[in-house]
Amino acid sequence: MLGWGTDERVDMTSRWRVCLVLAALAAGCSSVPARNGLTPSVRDQAKPLRVQVAQERNAVRTVRLEDYVRAAAISEFAPPSGDPELIERMLEVQSVIARTYALANRGRHRRQGFDLCSTTHCQLYEPSRLRTSRWAEAAAIAVRQTAGAVVWHEGGPAVALFHADCGGHTSTSVSAWGGTERSYLKAVRDDGHNDSAHAQWTYAATTAAILDAINADPRSRVGARLDAISVLKRDASGRAATVRLKGARELLIRGEDLRAILARDFGPRAVRSTLFDVKREGGSFVFTGRGFGHGVGLCQAGALARLRGGARPAEVLERYYPGTTLRAAN
Ligand SMILES: [Zn+2]
Ligand SMILES: [Zn+2]
Repeated sequence: MLGWGTDERVDMTSRWRVCLVLAALAAGCSSVPARNGLTPSVRDQAKPLRVQVAQERNAVRTVRLEDYVRAAAISEFAPPSGDPELIERMLEVQSVIARTYALANRGRHRRQGFDLCSTTHCQLYEPSRLRTSRWAEAAAIAVRQTAGAVVWHEGGPAVALFHADCGGHTSTSVSAWGGTERSYLKAVRDDGHNDSAHAQWTYAATTAAILDAINADPRSRVGARLDAISVLKRDASGRAATVRLKGARELLIRGEDLRAILARDFGPRAVRSTLFDVKREGGSFVFTGRGFGHGVGLCQAGALARLRGGARPAEVLERYYPGTTLRAAN
């Protein structure tokens, strides 16, 4: 138990209630159907999810949505040690995102006979954390505080993407991967309290190791040697949008694709983001960058800094998904 006074919990509950009432009011003047409780997503909310659980030898389990959210919230956010109340508020943010993701993506694996997988392909879901994590109780409180709340945009759950650390500037889904533009996924500076929230990193790898990694994928296969890696084009956030690889062959590759390919050999904590510079030093390439992850949507490092500075969870969600509303979907 976290040892909070009852008053504080009551206060937090009422905080969400106010948000949800506001969201319901806002929904009345948008294109959201007025008959609350009758949209398909709302009906779906009550249905349990069918989740393929990697931790349980890929068994497909039927899980109540709120139970799924409780485990997903602590699977996708590894709280630093620190103020329990701050962590609990961050878990409120993460719970709303996890719930929104589940509703928006229910049926993603329909052809395989379940709704969601439990890996990063969908959203991490590791139910054993409910037994082992020191934050399991905080997650349970956060899920209760936010019960049913989702990030809503134009009649449906939003695409509530998030990442660990934007490095000081968020990016759009279009510049990361192409595809559909979402008005609420913006490339903006993540400033204010957050100037010191973002981390810098350096990663060096030998030319031979990089060559092995990039030759393993047809999109980056340069052949027998690698002479240069250079950033040809940057997006509005400063991320490497297009990278040129020059070797026996010369080719252009999207920055996010190169990061994913390098992560297969070096792990996700090597080249942590596409917000990088790269230069050759002797027999190695040295990447120096900021942030961790794709940079689209909510920045966890920034969100935590905002909560620490006194922002409420609902304000944090509004900040990273501007133009959306919080809505009680049940
Ligand atoms: Zn999946
Ligand atoms: Zn950030």
